[in-house]
Amino acid sequence: MIDHMFGKITLSIIKPDAVQKGYVSPILYKIVHAGFHIIAIKITELSKKSATKFYAEHKKKLFFESLVKFMSSGPIVSVILKKENAVKDFRILIGETNPVHAKKGTIRNLYATSLEKNAIHGSDSNQNAIKECLFYFSNREIFF
Ligand code: GDP
Repeated sequence: MIDHMFGKITLSIIKPDAVQKGYVSPILYKIVHAGFHIIAIKITELSKKSATKFYAEHKKKLFFESLVKFMSSGPIVSVILKKENAVKDFRILIGETNPVHAKKGTIRNLYATSLEKNAIHGSDSNQNAIKECLFYFSNREIFF
């Protein structure tokens, strides 16, 4: 069970735009260099159905259909990261949702293409982190 890791893990996704442009390696390097430990990783692809489920909280937004199309457009890399204050520290490392507002040197500042194609996902709360980790990984796929 990963429940006991509450507060120490976050779920990241290297999104299709960044995978397609060959940014997996530099992004993972930056993440590890910032002190995060990779405890599970997989290359996968979301069906439209899974992307719809993963982003369900946004289903009433105008951009929802486009977001689902984008997130199911190609391979993604899902990663579970471990660190004290993982969620908060990771959000700082990736920068603002809109890369135009992302601080210099953050992952979105360096690798995002647009507000939608913003290279990377990071969980927004400890509760969602656990939920999102279990969306992509079974307990036996997580290395402690
Ligand atoms: P995050 O937690 O920083 O990823 O941001 P949100 O949870 O608000 O949004 C989820 C994802 O939807 C973002 O990472 C973007 O890929 C996309 N997104 C957010 N806002 C917009 C928008 O206004 N237009 C479009 N096209 N995509 C958006």
